[in-house]
Parts: sequence; structure tokens; C-alpha cells
Amino acid sequence: MHGPLIGITTSELRTPDRVDPTPSSEPPQRELALGLDYPVAVAAGGGLPVVLPPHLDQAEDVVSRLDGLVLAGGPDINPALYAHPPHANLGPNEPATDAWELALLTAALERGLPVLAICRGMQLLNVAYGGTLWQDINTELELGDVHRQKERGSEVTHDVEVDDGTQLAALTGGGTLAVNSFHHQAVQDLGSGLRITARDQGLVEAIEDPARPFVIGVQWHAESLYRRPAQLALFQGLVATAATSA
Ligand code: MN
Repeated sequence: MHGPLIGITTSELRTPDRVDPTPSSEPPQRELALGLDYPVAVAAGGGLPVVLPPHLDQAEDVVSRLDGLVLAGGPDINPALYAHPPHANLGPNEPATDAWELALLTAALERGLPVLAICRGMQLLNVAYGGTLWQDINTELELGDVHRQKERGSEVTHDVEVDDGTQLAALTGGGTLAVNSFHHQAVQDLGSGLRITARDQGLVEAIEDPARPFVIGVQWHAESLYRRPAQLALFQGLVATAATSA
């Protein structure tokens, strides 16, 4: 007995200079980095999680084996992908990872798989639909640093208002949702065919494709809040939709 197979990207590729090996560990090299909350949350939602190492040539093949896709958080997206010049506060980019994840997302949409896109993943979803991003909300929108909390990921620090009549509202119960916040970028122009589903003081905090059963993006780290029923519902919804294609 097992649940639908849910692939999870590892957006962060840690460079050797940022790896801190112990005397008995492997030689320094680039490493995949993914918070364990992601597979734990997928499993809590009833799915069978599998981590997807980047290999551009294998995107369609690996998606053909999956029942659902989670696009994880990670570094900033290369603004060349939405034809904007880089902002002074743009963080490090991984263009090869951007290409890999866009290929995975494209293949998943072609196959009609459900997609849960978290933080950077939601930003990638917006860019894939032709949208643009704020590259540094702290300076471009003068929002201060309330969207980059010091508290742990399991703690909530700001509210979002969920729009009625959305898939997000149906899953979470709607209304005001308490979330965590670990981002300095955000959706600017919305991609064509997407709908904004939650906001915090005008800032886009969630999006979805209303024409599809489950293509949902959230700016907060839902995986670190899976002990909360409204957040676990995102993973349960992903898995339930994945089960129909399994
Ligand atoms: Mn936020």
C-alpha cells in the first residue's frame, strides 16, 4: 500500500565552499539541498515523496513516472527569464536549475499532473505563465523585512486574506490564514491564465490556474506548517488529485 508518487525539486545546489564536511565525510562537491519538511509534509498528506536531482535531459522521462509535482523553495530566479534587468539586491541565480524546473513544470502541465508550487516554486509558476517578479520587495515596495521572519519555519508571523471562490479557499477553509514568511521576491505582473488567490496588504501570497484541477502556488512555506490542518490540506489536495492520475 502506497500513495501517489510525488516528485520534489531541490532548487538549491550548495557549492563546495558552502559545504562544511566532517573529517570522515565525502570530499567537498556541489550538493543537493532540500529541507526535510518537504518529503515529510508530502508523506503526511498521503503521498510517496521522491526527490528529483536536476538533469535537464530527463525532465520528460521523470515526469512520466510521477503522479504529482512539488516545486520547492530556493534561490532567486534569473530575471532574464521574464526579460527584466537584474536588480542590485537580486540574490544568487542558478540558471541551469531554472531551466530544469521549467522543463519539469512544462512536462507536468502537458500531462495534467497536479502541481504544488512553494515560495520560489510559486514564482517559477508565475514566470512559466508569462508573469514577472519583484526582485527585492524590501526596497522596491518598501515593505521592510516582515516577509523574512527570524522565527522558525514552524511559526506563523503574518496573515493572508484568501479570496472566496478559489481552490485555495476550498482547501484551507478560506478567510484569514496565518502563514510563515521567508521571501524577498514576490509576484509582480500575474502570468496569463493564473488567478491571485491570497494577498497580504496588496502583496500576492498565493496563485492558482483555475482551469486545472490542482495547479496551486503559495508564497509561504506550507511544508513547515503541515501540522496545521489548513496547511496539511494543501498536501492532501495535491495527493488526492494525483491519485486520480496514478
Ligand atoms: Mn509573506
